[in-house]
Amino acid sequence: MLAHWQNHDRSFSTVSLVTAMVLTSLQLPGNAGEYLSGIEWPEPPIVTPGMADRDPPSDAVVLFGGHDASAWQGGEKWTVENEELVVGKGMIQTKQAFGDCQLHIEWSAPTPATGTGQQRGNSGVFFGPYEIQVLDCFENGTYFDGQAAAIYKQQQPLVNAMRKPGEWNTYDIIWRSPRFAEDDTLTSPAAVTVLHNGVLVQNHFELLGDTPYNRPPRYQPHPVKLPIRLQDHGNPVRFRNVWVREVAALVGKRVRSPALREGKTVTPLSGNGGK
Ligand code: MG
Repeated sequence: MLAHWQNHDRSFSTVSLVTAMVLTSLQLPGNAGEYLSGIEWPEPPIVTPGMADRDPPSDAVVLFGGHDASAWQGGEKWTVENEELVVGKGMIQTKQAFGDCQLHIEWSAPTPATGTGQQRGNSGVFFGPYEIQVLDCFENGTYFDGQAAAIYKQQQPLVNAMRKPGEWNTYDIIWRSPRFAEDDTLTSPAAVTVLHNGVLVQNHFELLGDTPYNRPPRYQPHPVKLPIRLQDHGNPVRFRNVWVREVAALVGKRVRSPALREGKTVTPLSGNGGK
């Protein structure tokens, strides 16, 4: 090796030969120039994040900020104390309807923990008729598709990321509403991604339908946007920092065919590359 590098000219010519071979291979069609998609994208809007991740970004709708439950129909039957919303009488639902969205919600199970299984710290976050379970499952056994962050009776969470009763749990939920055709057939199912305390627990799970206790899931046609609901299951679960962002895909517009640009030359692509 030492001798090789000592013969400077010879090693240089070897490197040059290898470099030339690599460059030749790069000049094969498909590797030459810059790919231009031909799609013009709108500029992504600027969103100012909150001071901390629990704080609402600038485009969020605050559903509970600590002071009143006025965003909720039925909220007057729940209690606001210590800037927390405590489960009271009956299920509450947002006055505004939401479709595809990102929901941030924090909840804390009652202390001392009482009851077992489904009777301990039970509530739920519903998008229309679809429940993401809220349950104190810290050292509390229950059926797995009924524990915290389960899609109730359909899908258990990937892991149990539960904090102790009295501590605060966070759900960050990415929700996609189901879509129905004009003849009421399902065209795409609901899908959900959930992070529980920052841990992925549902990874784009496609729902089989609604989430009742007493029958199989099924889809019934409904508008894309429905209220978000919080369940009264008889346990004084506490909520705080509840906000939601509506999510819409940015739509690009095709303004020219896909092409390759080499210097000033733009060559339209055909075949598979042109799709
Ligand atoms: Mg529940």
